[in-house]
Amino acid sequence: MTTPASATRINLLDYDPTAMRELFGERGIEKYRADQITEWIYRRGEYVFGKMNNLPADLRARLVSEFTIDVGEIAQRSVSKDDKSVKLLIKFNDGELVETVMIPRKERRTVCVSSQVGCKFGCVFCASGQAGFARDLKTGEIVAQVLRARDESDTKDVSHIVFMGMGEPFDNYGEVLAAIRRLNDPKAFEIGARKITVSTSGLVPKIESFCEKGMQIELSVSLHGANDEVRSKLMPINRKYPVHDLMQACKEYVDKTGRIVTFEYLLAKGLNASISDAKELAMLLRTVHCKVNLIPLNPIPEFPYERPTYPEILAFQDVLVRNEIPATVRFSRGNEINAACGQLRRMAKGSTTPMPSRKKSA
Ligand code: SF4
Repeated sequence: MTTPASATRINLLDYDPTAMRELFGERGIEKYRADQITEWIYRRGEYVFGKMNNLPADLRARLVSEFTIDVGEIAQRSVSKDDKSVKLLIKFNDGELVETVMIPRKERRTVCVSSQVGCKFGCVFCASGQAGFARDLKTGEIVAQVLRARDESDTKDVSHIVFMGMGEPFDNYGEVLAAIRRLNDPKAFEIGARKITVSTSGLVPKIESFCEKGMQIELSVSLHGANDEVRSKLMPINRKYPVHDLMQACKEYVDKTGRIVTFEYLLAKGLNASISDAKELAMLLRTVHCKVNLIPLNPIPEFPYERPTYPEILAFQDVLVRNEIPATVRFSRGNEINAACGQLRRMAKGSTTPMPSRKKSA
C-alpha cells in the first residue's frame, strides 16, 4: 500500500501561529510568511497554497512539497430540515472518520467537535461508546473540524464550540488543550474561553489539573445519576471515579475558576426520571454552584429505555427549581440527522457505514 503524500508532509494545522513561525525559521523560510499563511487559513478560509496569491510562486511550490493544511475530506454531509444543523463526516488521511456538527441558532453558530475516533468509556446510552475506540485525534484534526464546519455556516463564522462529539475530551488531554488554545488565539479563531465548553464523563484527575490552567472554559459534566448505583449502570467510569469524588472535583473547579459547572442529566423513564430521583439530585447538588441541563432521552437501539412524557419532564425540572438549582430542559437539536448529544457514532474506517455495536440491541 502506498502512503498518501499528505501523510509524509507536515500538517500546519498541528502548529499554532507562533510555533509555525518557529518551524519556518528552522527551515530557512522567512517567519512572516507563516503569518501570511495563518491569515489565509483562519481569516480567509483558504487551505490551498496555490491560491495564496501574496506568496511568491517558488515558495508556493516549496510549501506544496513539504507541508499540507489537512482539513480532511468531507465523506458525507447531511442537513437537518427542521433546524438547518449540518452534520459532516470528515475522513482523515489514514481513513478514519469523525463527525462534526454545525448548529445555527439565532445569532449563534455552534460547532460540536469530536476529540477521538470512537470512545473507550462505553456509556450505555451513547452511540459513540458502543462501537469501541480507534485512536485519539491530533490537534490539527480537531482544528480541521472547526474550519470545515465554519465553511458550512451561512455567516462563515463560529461563535461557540462544544466538545460533545465523539470521544472523551479529557482522555485526549494534551491535544484537546492545544486545540482550545488555538480556538482562543487572537491570530486564529479568537473565540472567547467562555464560549468554549468541554464536556466530560467525569475523569476526576483531569478535572483537577484543568482547574490549574486558569482558563475560563465552561465545564460540563455528564452526571445522569444522583447515586453510584444508577450512575455506574449508565457510565462504567463511575466505578473508578464515584459520585462523591466527582462532586469534590467539581467544587474545586468552581472555587478555582469562579465558573459554575453544568451537569448534564439524561432523563430515561424507569431509570432516573422519577420525582424521588429529582429530590435525590437536588440534595446532591445543593452545595455545588451549578446548573443542570435535563436531556430527555434520544433513543438509540442499544438502550432499552423511553423518553419520559412532557409532564413528567416538567415535574422533574420543577423539583430542582424549587430547590434553587437552575435547570433547563434541552430538547437536543439535530435529532433528525442523529447529531444530538450521545448520537454521534463511529464509522467503519474508510467508509460511511456505522461500526457495529459491541452490544446486542435490546
Ligand atoms: S458519553 Fe462521552 S464518555 Fe461516554 S461513551 Fe459517549 S463519548 Fe464516551
